[in-house]
Amino acid sequence: MLGGVRFGLPALFACLLAASCAGPGTTSVPTGASNNGRPDYWGHRAGPQGFDTVIIDAGHGGKDSGATSGTTGQREKDLALDTAKRLQRQLGGRVKTRLMRSDDTFIDLDDRAARASGKSNTILVSLHYNSGGSGIRGPETYYWRVDSHGLATRFQRAMTSVSPAESGNRGMVRRRLRLTRNPDIPCVLLEIGYLSNPSEARLCADPAYRDKMVSAIARAILDQQAKGDAGTGPLPRPINAPPSRPTDPAGS
Ligand SMILES: [Zn+2]
Repeated sequence: MLGGVRFGLPALFACLLAASCAGPGTTSVPTGASNNGRPDYWGHRAGPQGFDTVIIDAGHGGKDSGATSGTTGQREKDLALDTAKRLQRQLGGRVKTRLMRSDDTFIDLDDRAARASGKSNTILVSLHYNSGGSGIRGPETYYWRVDSHGLATRFQRAMTSVSPAESGNRGMVRRRLRLTRNPDIPCVLLEIGYLSNPSEARLCADPAYRDKMVSAIARAILDQQAKGDAGTGPLPRPINAPPSRPTDPAGS
């Protein structure tokens, strides 16, 4: 769609900054602040088991295209929406699903977090495609809440099992983003592959590859639903930190 447009800094920052795929992020600093009497408010608990609903969030949309591949010309917002719909089909009948967006609509990140919050027995998975240096490839998983660690572990394992090669990617990362910190339900953000890497961009352009990824992601969700955190390792330490805001300086 945008064939001929080469990947460059604006595309990089379209994902990293404008829409906050992986930014603005922060390093975690315990503050000792109270949780307003709700000890699980920031997700300081074990991961979910037996949940009945998955909110599938296709990243970006409308005026926010996210990253664009210089190799295939594909836009992150289109791939994310396609992937979200594939995941909804894969999960059909086994768990209830809701799409955050079902068409090319812009939804502010704060609105996405608000829409996901207050739901019982529900998890949120946000789907993105990444961009960075052309030599970097492989899936990444972002989480913040303690109760999202098991899910994140399952997602990263699942995507890595499908990805044929990895190079220089960040793997699984605990980062305070608006969609990993602010919803009051377990929430994880997936970067399925680097559109800035020519080989991985071509893979991500293949519907059969996206289906393989989606199958693995769906299995991870159903495994978490059945087993909770079993087999996903020790929980990370709780961190008290305020909600992520668009005005947060990157790296603060
Ligand atoms: Zn993104």
